[in-house]
Amino acid sequence: MRFFSTVYLILLLYTIAALMFWGVSLQKQNTRILEQEVLILRSTVDSVQHPALYNTRMQLLQNKYEMRVKQYYGEGSTFLLVILIGAAVVWSSFRKSIHLSRQKNNFMLSVTHELKSPIAAIKLNLQTLEKHQLDAAKRSSLIERCIKEANRLNDLCNNMLFASQIEGRQYVASKEIINFSELVEDAVRDYAQRYPRPFEEDINVDCKLNGDRVMLGLAINNLLENAVKYSPPDKPIVVELTEKNNCILLCVKDEGAGIPNDEKKKIFDKFYRVGNEGSRKSKGTGLGLYLTCKIIGQHKGKITVKDNLPHGSNFEVSLPMS
Ligand code: ADP
Repeated sequence: MRFFSTVYLILLLYTIAALMFWGVSLQKQNTRILEQEVLILRSTVDSVQHPALYNTRMQLLQNKYEMRVKQYYGEGSTFLLVILIGAAVVWSSFRKSIHLSRQKNNFMLSVTHELKSPIAAIKLNLQTLEKHQLDAAKRSSLIERCIKEANRLNDLCNNMLFASQIEGRQYVASKEIINFSELVEDAVRDYAQRYPRPFEEDINVDCKLNGDRVMLGLAINNLLENAVKYSPPDKPIVVELTEKNNCILLCVKDEGAGIPNDEKKKIFDKFYRVGNEGSRKSKGTGLGLYLTCKIIGQHKGKITVKDNLPHGSNFEVSLPMS
């Protein structure tokens, strides 16, 4: 990065310096042309005998000289502007690609960890089941843990698969009338079974919309997964579903640390995760909200994040009703 920046800066300065040099040279040449033309004029027209003609010709030469000066300045500044705009575009795409490649690296590290840890946990639980004669309660607890880890793997694979399909425009969203209230209720029930922590539901409406069941299910799961991941296990997760202005409004509220204002827009970017790999406690891929935002966008809806008072996050999804 530093090497590229130095070479880039040197090249840019060289180009600007070369432009200046040619500008100054042209201007010198211009002055010399004027001097030559004045000499020729003096030798061909006598200023004492024909002062009017001499003055007109002289004025013409002056005008030509000024025209050339204007032309040099005009073209020079256009070139300079083009060079500066080009340099800014190159610099910003370079920075973007460096940023993306860093995020991809982080993503690979996170994905490797995310894939390996559930696999290791499942393997360990199955080996314990195979080697030891355990009582029924212990067996079912180990099997439950295996299912939980398998669900985590499933969610992660779904996110990765859909992200690549959405990007490659390979996924064709199916449109059907779905009962969104039921979809949310099922997801909350599933999460309440997976995680022994308080979930509060406020779903009194029967909302239907035209959309893709799998995609919308994935979006709801991502919001619940984040609420679980980024808030303490003893704090409730509140899921509200209401109707407003012919729109369905889904709120997923948690009482975690919340999201700083300057990060609120960035968290919907691909691979974006708040903080850095060293300081982060929770693991993830930075794909969940990116995908959720895409899915909601495909359904002509909007997703925003607000502060949940007194603390935590409140993800609000609004979707047009069918
Ligand atoms: P992941 O959770 O895999 O890192 P996401 O795209 O789902 O990726 O989220 C992006 C980032 O947004 C997360 O890394 C986290 O820092 C932040 N975030 C998402 N949801 C919450 C939440 N409910 N509370 C606090 N931070 C959150």
